[in-house]
Amino acid sequence: MKIKISENAGQNYLSSLSKFMPINWPWLHVMKIISNEVLEVETDHLFSNQFNTSTIAKDDNDLNRLLAKFDVPANDLEKVKSILTGNGIRAMHNIVDSVVDDIRLNLRKCRWCGGGSEKDYKGDTCLECGKSEYYYKFVPHANKSVRDQGVFLQEVKV
Ligand SMILES: [Zn+2]
Repeated sequence: MKIKISENAGQNYLSSLSKFMPINWPWLHVMKIISNEVLEVETDHLFSNQFNTSTIAKDDNDLNRLLAKFDVPANDLEKVKSILTGNGIRAMHNIVDSVVDDIRLNLRKCRWCGGGSEKDYKGDTCLECGKSEYYYKFVPHANKSVRDQGVFLQEVKV
């Protein structure tokens, strides 16, 4: 499962800030750097409106290629490198253009213990904690224009 990052990720991040929120400059640089990139998603914990990516820069070649896309100010360079080579980022839906090989549809997710489910499991009880009260599944979003974007799903009680 992968996500295609929007070409306007930097602008979208800025637009998401409320008036008095300071700009996180290294983060903004990273948003510009990953614009148009296709990033691998960690699938252990899935969400309807955000994604945990795996490490963005897999090796030095990758890191150099990414850094060449945008002139990072020297004082932010180390922070930007550590984000790119770290354990991945949380990508909110507003910087994601599309999801490639989305595995979420119909998967179950437990809001109690965080347990997921195998693709074919159709039960109504979490296999990890045994509870059913907090068991949800991913379905297409009810709002057609949101659904058509193909990024946002909805979680409904199983
Ligand atoms: Zn559970």
